[in-house]
Amino acid sequence: MCRHLAYLGPPLTLRELLFDPPYSLVRQSWAPRDMRGGGTINADGFGVGWYPPAGGDPVRYRRAQPIWSDPTIADLAAVTSTGAVLAAVRSATVGMAVVDAAAAPFAEGQWLFSHNGVVRGWPDSVVPLAATLPVRDLLTLDATTDSALLWALVRHRLRAGLSPGPAVAETVTSVAAAAPGSRLNLLLTDGRTVVASVAGHALSVRTTPDSVLLASEPHDDDPAWREVPDGHLVTATATGLHLRPLSRPDHHRP
Ligand code: GLN
Repeated sequence: MCRHLAYLGPPLTLRELLFDPPYSLVRQSWAPRDMRGGGTINADGFGVGWYPPAGGDPVRYRRAQPIWSDPTIADLAAVTSTGAVLAAVRSATVGMAVVDAAAAPFAEGQWLFSHNGVVRGWPDSVVPLAATLPVRDLLTLDATTDSALLWALVRHRLRAGLSPGPAVAETVTSVAAAAPGSRLNLLLTDGRTVVASVAGHALSVRTTPDSVLLASEPHDDDPAWREVPDGHLVTATATGLHLRPLSRPDHHRP
């Protein structure tokens, strides 16, 4: 199972966030502490998306190779400061494409998205859900993976004007109904707010008065880390955190 994280708060270098902590995302790529759901390492790709401090849409760096073997990311991380990040290391589900474009974060405009988990019965179980998407979206999926389809389903709802919380929650509940037993930990951010679903896999959160960090597993032994209970949706900004059960629909259509 992949590992992902999202950070909002005062600017940090990507190195401080992704490399330096004792159980950093980089370390989690070869020595994760929690791989419930299968897999041993996260070596099938990685991606980092960050928001430039000057404003504007996020920048991404993604590769289909282990993060530890990439010659560029460590140098880039040392000199890149940002106050909003979504990053992931990938363990591809058996049979799914291993290409740069299959590594999270997926993106459109200001949005960055990641999925930790698996859609059971792929792809047959979700054919009816895929059929609700415009054909164009299906023809332009980032990759032939469950995560890319989940992103297309969330993005379709965002494009229709749904707020990020309901867009994630509706996607999780509809996919869970179509493909029972799926693991659907999603992360979505626009650089100001992060929405995260906890559905079948772990997610921990650490807040300070001016920052929030959500991660598949804590990157250090700080007692401030809290595990989010399964079946919940988290909505967070740098200064506030809100939790609600995923099963309770909370429609805020504009
Ligand atoms: N199933 C997704 C993929 O193959 C995510 C895998 C994961 O969480 N390990 O890309």
